[in-house]
Amino acid sequence: MRILCIHSDYIEIEPKEKAIAQAEEIEKVKKRIEDCLVVFTAVEQEDERGIEKRAFEEIKKVAEQIKAEKIVLYPFVHLTSNPAQPKKALEILKALEKELAKSFFTYRAPFGWYKAFEIRCKGHALAELSREVKSVKEEKIEEVPEALKEEERVKSFWYILTPEGELIEASKFDFSGHENLEKFFRYEHAKSRTLDKAPPHVKLMKELAIAGNEEGSDLGNMKYFPKGRLIKSLLEELVTREAIKFGASEVETPVMYSAEHAALESYLNRFPARQYFVESGDKRFFLRFAACFGQFLMASKAVISYKHLPLRLYELTRYSFRREKSGELAGLRRLRAFTMPDMHTFCKDFEQAKEEFAKQFKLCMHVLEKIGLSKDDYECAIRFTKEFWENHSDFVKKIVREFGKPVLIEMWSFRYAYFDPKFEFNFIDALDKASALSTVQIDHENAKRFGITFVDEQGKEKHPYILHCSPSGAIERCIYALLEKAWMQKEKGKAPCLPLWLCPVHVRLCPVNDSFLEDCERLARFFEEQGIRVDIDDRNESVERKIRDAEHEWIPYIVVFGERERKTGKLSVRVRKERSISQMSKEELAEDIKKQIAKYPFRQLSLPKKLTQRAVFTH
Ligand SMILES: [Zn+2]
Repeated sequence: MRILCIHSDYIEIEPKEKAIAQAEEIEKVKKRIEDCLVVFTAVEQEDERGIEKRAFEEIKKVAEQIKAEKIVLYPFVHLTSNPAQPKKALEILKALEKELAKSFFTYRAPFGWYKAFEIRCKGHALAELSREVKSVKEEKIEEVPEALKEEERVKSFWYILTPEGELIEASKFDFSGHENLEKFFRYEHAKSRTLDKAPPHVKLMKELAIAGNEEGSDLGNMKYFPKGRLIKSLLEELVTREAIKFGASEVETPVMYSAEHAALESYLNRFPARQYFVESGDKRFFLRFAACFGQFLMASKAVISYKHLPLRLYELTRYSFRREKSGELAGLRRLRAFTMPDMHTFCKDFEQAKEEFAKQFKLCMHVLEKIGLSKDDYECAIRFTKEFWENHSDFVKKIVREFGKPVLIEMWSFRYAYFDPKFEFNFIDALDKASALSTVQIDHENAKRFGITFVDEQGKEKHPYILHCSPSGAIERCIYALLEKAWMQKEKGKAPCLPLWLCPVHVRLCPVNDSFLEDCERLARFFEEQGIRVDIDDRNESVERKIRDAEHEWIPYIVVFGERERKTGKLSVRVRKERSISQMSKEELAEDIKKQIAKYPFRQLSLPKKLTQRAVFTH
């Protein structure tokens, strides 16, 4: 579609006679519109329905710049040598008119008529602008990059590798006792990413006031309420701590990069239709989809000797952006803006890269375990070329032996992308969908592309191998996995729980009535001093109601406080996980909790302590 925008003092339009048989039926009246943006529009052959949304965005941008409130949509076939069939052109014009009418006073000049018109252009810098708008589909076809073409040519062979070192064709493997691995293999094989129904965690994240879609933003850009923010920041801190403990140096790099930067272009072109672009002045930027470029550009300027290797850079990206298809977005599982712990390790040779790969495999297992996801919760896939397997099968077998359960192997006929090998840990959710959490890959190309070098033992400049690693996968996805896991536990008849260190509130105090409020406040101060998150249900509600609501919030320890507790100093504690009531002193309860959360990050509750003081966040 081509458009020509003229910011005008006025336009006067007078339909004279039909120019084509398909002309619209109209009343022949003269129309004058003052102070408007006239948009001459030609719909082209390749335009598809849906293009009106993009055209609308372009026109809106222009209108906003010049502060126009009225739009005149003027069908003007002469802007193109490749016009669409009249029927389709009119259909798209009407759709565009409808879209515009939501935000502007909109008038569309009659379609298919010879019209006399008089226009007065305002004649300032932005008064005349022309644009070319393309259907998304077409853009994709035009820009299919080399790597994607290669991806279509590459052949995948699927196997299961057992801890005993047996490589068995996946279709012939006996999956009994490995049901999740089978689900994972089937999911991988189907390659379908579209969701037919909402995964259970979507309901939970709303009920627990964790997160919600922000309608004022794009799809897949979430808002986090205080409890959700707390959970998220604890996870962020845990993964960052573990990465630093592993030997990484934490850095911070920009979120946007020039679309014209030579080294970034080929990287960018891998997923051309999945970028967010930012226009600023006459420059065009794209939002990062990972921390790779930032860290690579940093490394390309660093002075590195072989003695410094392996060199590990780490960044927690808040955010990384990827414009996933709207049909694939699902709660916290797949987003357009996500928080990615992203580590890159520069290695002097392939041996060192392999060594690091094996170490990071263990790091990833350790991080997931700490988060609350055990080896039973995820399945491993290792992917590599046939050539890699022929030369390094013992290496792969050792990893799988140590992993201790069968692993899905994807073997490629050749290396179609920059990496070989890679692995991921995949969480299988309540709908049997697989989602990658941790991942590591060895990169053969980008050091050269980004001009990253080190000086080797002989004083020669060399390109390192680079490992890309996310020790946990996106933080949002970890929350998704924990919620889905809790849901599946509930299905098995257990109380759904979050790991204790992630529970926004550890202890809820429920005074039987107002006369016990002061006791509870004292008790709350005691727990707070011990580094425990505590709140007080001071609402004028029955004890039953208070307990029910606390259970609804998944509070792990609920304490009802009345006459008996005041007298004896013993608390009756409802322990969610065990679905039991225990009698214990406040010190015993504090010790019990502290023992469980001792090795984890801690943050204070950032909500008022008393429930009556809290606003209610809704979606
Ligand atoms: Zn990377």
